[in-house]
Amino acid sequence: MHPAVVVVDMLDDFVTGPLANPRSERIIPRIAELLDGARDRGWVVCYANDAHLPGDPEEKIWGQHAMAGTPGAQVIARLAPHATDIEFPKRYYSSFYETGLGGYLRQRDVDTVILVGQHTHMCVRHTSADAFNLGLRIIVPTDGVEAFTDADHEGGLAYLRQVYGASTPTIAELLASHPTA
Ligand code: ZN
Repeated sequence: MHPAVVVVDMLDDFVTGPLANPRSERIIPRIAELLDGARDRGWVVCYANDAHLPGDPEEKIWGQHAMAGTPGAQVIARLAPHATDIEFPKRYYSSFYETGLGGYLRQRDVDTVILVGQHTHMCVRHTSADAFNLGLRIIVPTDGVEAFTDADHEGGLAYLRQVYGASTPTIAELLASHPTA
């Protein structure tokens, strides 16, 4: 397995800002553990971050959020990227759409994506769709993703399992099944 962790939209605007989600607190320490484990194992670590421009399609649905270059569009300090991690700005739900992430993962011989962040039924789902189309294996840890409601979170996970064949272990299970060399 040549995995990459992709941290989706763990930005100030999505944790404490205009689209604050108190439920996201649950996953922050778990994602931090995953990132530590991934770096210990030499796995690729990427971040896919909303960086919207005025008039982007989502603005009609959600209002302005995570505008490119604003503090709210930064990854939260508790999950701050390391120097060797790559950040991919995005303007759409999918982390792959017009971002260069797909080409980057191909260059690094990645065959599996581990998706964490927000939200289970939106950006994680759209990212999974593009990962599926690229032939990547998809892992979505249940304690690494969140949504605004239980129904959206649980329904989102069920959809990812059914439609994309995603596996949904806990982060502890995932790391335990891939011990460091
Ligand atoms: Zn957005």
